[in-house]
Amino acid sequence: MAENATYDHPSSVSEAPYSDLKAFHPVKRGSWQAVDASQWNDWKWQLRHRIQNLSDLQQHGMSLSQEEQLGAQLADTKLALGITPYFFNLIDREDPHCPIRRQIIPRVEETLTHPSEMSDPCGEDSHSPVPGLVHRYPDRVLFLVTDRCAAYCRYCTRSRLVSNASGYGFQPDYQRQIAYIRNHPEIRDVLLSGGDPLLLSDEKLEMLLSEIRAIPHVEFLRIGSRIPIFLPQRITPELCRMLAKFHPLFISVHANHPRELTLEVKEAMGRMANAGIPLGNQSVLLKGVNDSVPTMKALIHKLLMCRVRPYYLYQCDLIQGSAHLRTSVRRGLEIMEGLRGHTTGYAIPQYVIDAPGGGGKVPINPDYILSHDSEKITIRNFEGKTFDYPEHDDLKGFDPDSKTSRSRDVSMSVSLGD
Ligand code: SF4
Repeated sequence: MAENATYDHPSSVSEAPYSDLKAFHPVKRGSWQAVDASQWNDWKWQLRHRIQNLSDLQQHGMSLSQEEQLGAQLADTKLALGITPYFFNLIDREDPHCPIRRQIIPRVEETLTHPSEMSDPCGEDSHSPVPGLVHRYPDRVLFLVTDRCAAYCRYCTRSRLVSNASGYGFQPDYQRQIAYIRNHPEIRDVLLSGGDPLLLSDEKLEMLLSEIRAIPHVEFLRIGSRIPIFLPQRITPELCRMLAKFHPLFISVHANHPRELTLEVKEAMGRMANAGIPLGNQSVLLKGVNDSVPTMKALIHKLLMCRVRPYYLYQCDLIQGSAHLRTSVRRGLEIMEGLRGHTTGYAIPQYVIDAPGGGGKVPINPDYILSHDSEKITIRNFEGKTFDYPEHDDLKGFDPDSKTSRSRDVSMSVSLGD
């Protein structure tokens, strides 16, 4: 780490009022005013004009801290710097702690490694029977399609391979990956991820999906993508029509902060939902981004308004150089406590830790069980009130299947009916 660089740990998210967080705004053109609408709305134009280095950042008017300048200079040796013009314009230039900025502008702290951090925190490489395929759970596989993304998240759990900045040399071999699935009849669920699968052309993606869909034991297809957030222009009607040929196909998007849910994103989600694609969201809990109840509540409410079901909230993986973005598990539990019961159940994601080294996702919940024995379970609700529920095995001689009990139920219902 360079001299004078310091950790920057804001104690909480810089909060906008809840009503502002909930609004769906269109994204302004910023320094691309001269670009016409057809170019701006063309996903390939957006990719060609990505911000990719320090001079691009400065040319587009970003005033950077010393930590960010060093981070931008070093990004090419760790995880590339890449930001679509559309997403770049979501940054609030006046706010050094802007939650969008924290996710995509590199910082020199990324070069620091805490002893608990790893290059492959989820142990994917050790569960990879062929390159680009991770088979960790019994009935499903992760199919890595590419190492490229539309933009690069500074906390990416797969930063060892994504963007190839650190020289991993990821080489997917689709035919070997598909052959493995074909030879393993226990695989009923295939998740395409990467990198971002929606960066492939429609034709290439259709060919890949067709081959996987043709395997008789594959019941269910999933795509994990942050493109609807980084590049909603990619979600064209043609892409949605093509994806609709492969149902059941689910898409998991990745939004972390309510400001990422713009008008453009809402419309893109609508196109996918109208194509019959069930949508879920996976968020990563990030310090200074979404580690507060009001921010998380605005995010999950907006997701429902975009027809997206909040699915997982991940404790940030122990990826090297992410300590400045990680929160405590205690904070995550406090946030879950502030959501469950306080708002719509459909809006509540499952908080999980991907067990370090390859143990898979483990659900983490606040403790609602106060005691549990052979007679009863004592629980508390979201208001802190306690309740007893009898254990079914200890109904004190009451046998719901016996004649005596049935006649007693009948007489009870008759008297209630009266
Ligand atoms: S979009 Fe996903 S794979 Fe790509 S950098 Fe972000 S977290 Fe990593």
